[in-house]
Amino acid sequence: MAGKKVIGVLALQGAFVEHEAALRRCGAKAIRVRRKEELEGIDGLIIPGGESTSIGRLLVAYDLAETIVERSQTGMPIFGTCAGMIVMAKEIPGSDQFTLGLMDISARRNAFGRQVESFEADLDVKGFPRPVRGIFIRAPYIDRVWGETEVLSVYEGKVVMARERNLLTCSFHPELTTDLSIHKYFLDMA
Ligand code: GLN
Repeated sequence: MAGKKVIGVLALQGAFVEHEAALRRCGAKAIRVRRKEELEGIDGLIIPGGESTSIGRLLVAYDLAETIVERSQTGMPIFGTCAGMIVMAKEIPGSDQFTLGLMDISARRNAFGRQVESFEADLDVKGFPRPVRGIFIRAPYIDRVWGETEVLSVYEGKVVMARERNLLTCSFHPELTTDLSIHKYFLDMA
């Protein structure tokens, strides 16, 4: 790594503080993004978990959506976790909420069912030497990928992590564990 990478964490709503902490533990510089200008100097962007309809609404209200889409098209790495997955998806079955429409995925909201509000599981991730602990909180899963999207992890037959070139997403919350391997993987993309 040449110099410190600067990663923006979208801080409109949700679990952004935990992502900042994980990035700092990886040796990166984390900055909060709430204004368009704050997107300028960053090497990558994390869209955290939270409530995807709120995040979507605020992306429009704060006039960030267009610039994020443009930056993604010119190669800036973007990593969406949980609600961030929904915000990145091109399709949300049964919902017409706003999304950035970045990734060739269909993401189903709260897809593990109401009985299973949250759970943890060890996940095999393609290319990772060890399983990672996935914390799922009212999590979505990916029910369809197309184009260049590559599936990186499957849990009980459901796609929970995927990558499309500079775009990365997972259903769970890697920022809530002490395992930094997924944040490191993203930093390698940046
Ligand atoms: N269920 C939430 C949504 O649809 C996502 C939950 C989370 O990010 N932990 O926005």
